[in-house]
Amino acid sequence: MDKKEMISGFVDRHLEDIALVNDTIWEFAEPGMKEYKSAAFYGSFFEERGFHVDMGVAEVPTAFVASWGEGHPIIGFLGEYDALPTLSQEAACPEKCPVTEGAYGQGCGHNSLGAAAAGAALAFRDYLRENGLPGTVRYYGCPGEEYGSGKVFMARAGLFDDADICLTWHPGDMNQVKATSSLACISAFFEFTGVSAHAAANPHLGRSALDACELMNIGVNYLREHIIPEARVHYAYLNAGGIAPNVVHDKAKIHYFVRAPKIRAAQEIFQRVQDIAEGAAKMTGTRMQMHFHEALSDCCNNRTLERLMQEAFEEIGAPCFDAEDVALAERFRKTFTPGDLADIPATLEGMGIDPACISMDAPLHTGILPYTPIERAMPGSTDVGDVSYCVPTAQCTVATVALGTPGHSWQMTAQSRSSIAARGNAVAAKVMALTAAKAIADPELMRKAKEELARTAGGKYECPIPADVKPTL
Ligand SMILES: [Zn+2]
Repeated sequence: MDKKEMISGFVDRHLEDIALVNDTIWEFAEPGMKEYKSAAFYGSFFEERGFHVDMGVAEVPTAFVASWGEGHPIIGFLGEYDALPTLSQEAACPEKCPVTEGAYGQGCGHNSLGAAAAGAALAFRDYLRENGLPGTVRYYGCPGEEYGSGKVFMARAGLFDDADICLTWHPGDMNQVKATSSLACISAFFEFTGVSAHAAANPHLGRSALDACELMNIGVNYLREHIIPEARVHYAYLNAGGIAPNVVHDKAKIHYFVRAPKIRAAQEIFQRVQDIAEGAAKMTGTRMQMHFHEALSDCCNNRTLERLMQEAFEEIGAPCFDAEDVALAERFRKTFTPGDLADIPATLEGMGIDPACISMDAPLHTGILPYTPIERAMPGSTDVGDVSYCVPTAQCTVATVALGTPGHSWQMTAQSRSSIAARGNAVAAKVMALTAAKAIADPELMRKAKEELARTAGGKYECPIPADVKPTL
């Protein structure tokens, strides 16, 4: 029997496991870095299936590593499980209908992400066992992808250093091996402290923290013209001083994100933002304290491993949806804004792909996009980037939702527990497990992937989160 048939067979035997994980984590829908029930569930899930589980790694209670086997090659599968606020929604329901108004929901499909990665780990374990092959299967339980940078803390703790390759995927509306990078991102809080005073009687005695925030923003807005156009800087007020115009505000706080295609560029811009904050404090006679929150590196694409994943994807094939799936997808499609669909050709072009590759008439993507490596970061950031600097890493997206489904939406929550997601999950598990099986059969390719990483990552991984910054729990 060839690898593809073996792997497919093993994944098929674990379809119930995949569905169990998918639906359980969907139900829990916990915030990033607080996925206590989800992590506990995964812990017993893997222990019951013969894995050794280290819970609470990298100083994060909900981060874990489940492993089976010993020695090299060490193959890692990355799983996520955090949810998003306000995206609670009935499963498979194509009308906005929250299970609990305002509650968290799996609006990025991380329940599916973790479930199919678990399926891949189990199937690949079966494959090693059946063939008497040496090696270790690792499932990295990565918390806080949306909020908290779980993988970055895990990378800082050296948890990926001895792995030979890492594989992951993301639920989405298209079938594709990811060949673009993502933006590096640095997040920090700037808190200003001044002196309060009666705004009419003694304003000369006051020192306004709100003025400091406003001047900082003005400074940053002037900075924009003098940074690379691909960079993105955004901010939100966490404390705008209060509600009384007749009080000089003595406390104000603002949250900044600085993004750029490479982490070094983000760090340089971030330093300039910090200088501006200091300048704003000087101008207003206030004190500024910066609290580093989190940071993510860009993705260091590994073309060797991505090509192998493409080969595996083409062998496995895209998900085959039935008439019911198509009908359900049609109903979801009716809820999209015209922009959700109109954006698709431009998104494809941005990835260097001919938009004609996708039939916009079909509600579900049933092809596989051609592998198109380009040096470009797609807007958005992920902590998979830091893993990709430690170990050769490849990722794909598999269609688990209707074409055009917006990211971080109630439609994503709904479809992440549906027959559509179940079919996508099976394919994702097969593609990852088959990529792993192909990789270990080809030591020369593994060596090339490592050489490529050494060349592109420029030496040792430097964690963008300073050593003294603790995970935000
Ligand atoms: Zn996500």
